Amino acid sequence: MKIKSLLTNLIVCIFSHLALAQDEPRIIPEQLTDNIYVLYGGSGQGANVGLFIGKNELLLVDGMKAETNEKLLGIIRTISDKPIRHVINTHADSDHAGANSLFMENGATVYMQENAPFEGGRGNSYFKDKLTLVTDDQTIEVHATVSHSFCDALIYFKESNIVFMGDTFTNNWYATFNSGGVKGQFEAIDLALSLGNEQTKYVPGHGLPANAAGLLKYRKATGEWLSKVSELNRAGISVDEMVGNEELNRIKQDFIDDRTGATIPQARLKRFIERTISIDLIPKYPVDSETLKAYVGIYQYEDDTQEEIYFSEGKLFVRKKTPYQYISELIPQSDQLFHLGGSISMWLEFNPDGSGLTFLNGDETSTAMRAD
Ligand SMILES: [Zn+2]
Repeated sequence: MKIKSLLTNLIVCIFSHLALAQDEPRIIPEQLTDNIYVLYGGSGQGANVGLFIGKNELLLVDGMKAETNEKLLGIIRTISDKPIRHVINTHADSDHAGANSLFMENGATVYMQENAPFEGGRGNSYFKDKLTLVTDDQTIEVHATVSHSFCDALIYFKESNIVFMGDTFTNNWYATFNSGGVKGQFEAIDLALSLGNEQTKYVPGHGLPANAAGLLKYRKATGEWLSKVSELNRAGISVDEMVGNEELNRIKQDFIDDRTGATIPQARLKRFIERTISIDLIPKYPVDSETLKAYVGIYQYEDDTQEEIYFSEGKLFVRKKTPYQYISELIPQSDQLFHLGGSISMWLEFNPDGSGLTFLNGDETSTAMRAD
C-alpha cells in the first residue's frame, strides 16, 4: 500500500512537472536496481537517461541536451561522485546526445552507431551492428536497429534485465518510426522482446519503464494505426479529415501508458499521419535495380556540401555526406523522381542523363552535380 502510494506520488510528481512552468524544470531520478537508475527528463530537459554505477566509474545511457548538462550532473552527484567514463547513445537527436562533447571533454568515451550524423551529437567510438561492454559484473549489449532513426541502438543490461529503448519506444507520445517505418518499429520491438523476458524492464526514450506486456500493447497500437491510416488513405480520405477520425483518435491513445497521464496534442496528429503515409504508404513506382544503381555516387551542391546516393538491399538511399550525415530512403515515384521517406515534403529528382540532381524541400530547390 505504502509502496503503491509512493510510486503514485513519484509518477504524479514526474508528470505534473512537465505541465508546470518551464522556469522550474526538474530531472527526476528513480532507482531501478542496486546500481541502475533512470533520470527522467521532462519538458525542455531532454530524454530519459540511464545511470549505471560501477565500482569505480559511472556509465550513462544518453546525456540529454548540452543546455541541461549542469542540471543533469547536479542530480547525478546526489547519487554518486564517481567519474563518468562511458556514455552510450540510443541515437543522435539532441535531446539524447546534445551533451556528448561535454562528456568527452571530461574524458568519457561516447559510443554511437556509425550512421550518427557528423554534426550535433558526435561520439568518439563507433560500432556497426553490435557492441558488448563488460564492466563490474554487468554485461551491456548494444544492438543497432533502424526505426526512429538510422542510428538507433537498444541497450541491454543483461544481468539487471533492463533494456533502454531510446525513441524506438516512447509511451508518453505517439510512435516515431520516421526512418524504418512500421517494419522497422516492429523489428526494434521484437529484438527488444527477444533479449528479455516477462520480468524485463523496458525504459522508453520518453515516458515510464514498461514490462513486456506494455511494449506489446505499443506494438499492437502501431499495427492498428498503420492499417487504419492505410484503409482511410486507400478510400481517398484527406489527412485533414483523418485528424478527426474517431478510430484513429482511439488508437492514438493506445500508444500512451495511462500512468503518464499524457495526451497527444491534436496538432501533432496531422504530422504523425503525414509521416506514416510518407514512410509506409506512399505508392512505390517500380524501378529496376540497374536504373537505381546508375544513380549511385557523390553529388555536390554549389555551396560545396555533398550528398551520397547508395544502393542497399534493392533500395536507394540518400546520405547527406557533408556537413552532417542524415540518411533517408528514396522511394521511387517515377524513374527519376524520388520521395524522401519519413519527411513531410522532401523530394529528389535526378537529371535524365545522370549528370546531377535537384533537391526539393517544400518550395525550395537546390541543384547538385555529379562529383565522382
Ligand atoms: Zn527523443
